[in-house]
Amino acid sequence: MPKFIDSHAHLGDSEFVKDLPEVIERAKHVGVRGVLVVAIGPADFERILNLHQIYPDFCWPCFGVHPVQNLPKGESRSVTDEDLEESLPWIHEHHDKLFAIGEVGLDFTPRFCTVDDAKDRQRSALRKQQRNEPSNIHISCEYIAKIKKMDLDTVANIIWENTLKLFPKIRHVVK
Ligand SMILES: [Zn+2]
Repeated sequence: MPKFIDSHAHLGDSEFVKDLPEVIERAKHVGVRGVLVVAIGPADFERILNLHQIYPDFCWPCFGVHPVQNLPKGESRSVTDEDLEESLPWIHEHHDKLFAIGEVGLDFTPRFCTVDDAKDRQRSALRKQQRNEPSNIHISCEYIAKIKKMDLDTVANIIWENTLKLFPKIRHVVK
């Protein structure tokens, strides 16, 4: 069975509160050896730390401020500097536990960039979250296999080796 690291999952989301143990068991059953648990923003941080305490060998915490922030009633908006004010102290305080900074990035989808300076705000937020830790930015294994015209197992093995290089703390928790 191939070994996988899920390098980007929002297991701290409230959607997983009901059945997280089953989700983790299913993931392990298909070869997932661990998950980098990424945040949207500071509201996720405490739950992500709790998951790491409960599943230290499987749920690996990442703190960051996503370029698109959720609002009540299912709406979203672009990140602002104010969103970072609460997050950066958390990142600083818990950096020794973090496997990466994330989720971070840029998202210029027009519906999220409704104000003139939204793109600049996102760029600013990304710059302010650059640290020595790796950054967690999403891309899918299947997409890489397709554009590189390689079989999925080969890509998965290369990603496994690269993951161990990029996220060195994983070596200490995966046997
Ligand atoms: Zn994400």
